[in-house]
Amino acid sequence: MRESDTHPWHAEQWHRIMVAHGALRLPHALLLTGPPGLGKGDFARRLAQVLVCVNPNEQGDPCGACGACRLVLAGTHPDLHFIQPEEPGRMIKIDAIRGLTAKSVLAAQDGGYRVFVIDPADMMNRAAANALLKTLEEPAKRSILVLVSSHPDRLPATIRSRCQIVRFPVPPARLVRDWLGQAAPEEELDQLLAISGGAPLRVLQAREQGWLEEGRDLCRELSALKRRQINPLQITEEWGKRPLTSVLDGLKRCLTDLIKLANGLSGAMLYHPALREDLQSLGQGIELKSLYGFNDQLLKADRELSHNLNGPMLLEHIANRWLQISRPGGH
Ligand SMILES: [Zn+2]
Repeated sequence: MRESDTHPWHAEQWHRIMVAHGALRLPHALLLTGPPGLGKGDFARRLAQVLVCVNPNEQGDPCGACGACRLVLAGTHPDLHFIQPEEPGRMIKIDAIRGLTAKSVLAAQDGGYRVFVIDPADMMNRAAANALLKTLEEPAKRSILVLVSSHPDRLPATIRSRCQIVRFPVPPARLVRDWLGQAAPEEELDQLLAISGGAPLRVLQAREQGWLEEGRDLCRELSALKRRQINPLQITEEWGKRPLTSVLDGLKRCLTDLIKLANGLSGAMLYHPALREDLQSLGQGIELKSLYGFNDQLLKADRELSHNLNGPMLLEHIANRWLQISRPGGH
């Protein structure tokens, strides 16, 4: 595990939890929510570390030097458990939660806390979520669950209602700009902020993973497909050379923009403000309901991918669907 990052936009949430901790009123389950790219997982790791650290400083930060901190940083602390999908984008299965339940009833070292971080909690499959619910209904002493989710609406209400919710809003743009400093080039900063919804860590991710370029490529490719300059097989082959999630996420952003423009929300914040005119002509002549249908297919593809479905085949379906809806008079 890497050293827990502290982020300036976490200050208020951190303070509130440290006050509760100091008063021995820490809830046994927390749900950290907010848009992606705010470092909620970092917050969870920092919290887990401070709960086992024997010498936290006045601000409630872990010391980083005690035996417990060293075990945490080495990723071998016996009382901290991080539960995540076996591969990114896949579901968290019941076995992982059963393991958690079994460990949560054991006493922690030195009578301290046992901390379980589930990230992203909304990727638990139904059986896993049901198993977790049982643990939430009968919490073990000195054991704390930290659920992290950018999509809390995907969690069962019964789970949400048993957690104390800690919200992470997008920080003011000024703070994000200050924090980014030289990390994002000035000439691209506005575009990066737009495409990442203003979430600071997403700005970095967008830059690293080339989200702006992906958007430009997709806009051009969808337009070429619409004008029958290339066929679905060629485009599928092209998409196959890029990471699947990059293409799929890029398509979702383009579609969201197309739908906003088709709804006449000309003043709306687009993911790609710099591509407004290209997107406007791309969406020309395509019915709004077809755009919604296409968007539904993208969301469905996302879900299917998390259940091991064949990626290239999904992309081919998507390309064919676009060809169909962009045909003059097509649906
Ligand atoms: Zn320490």
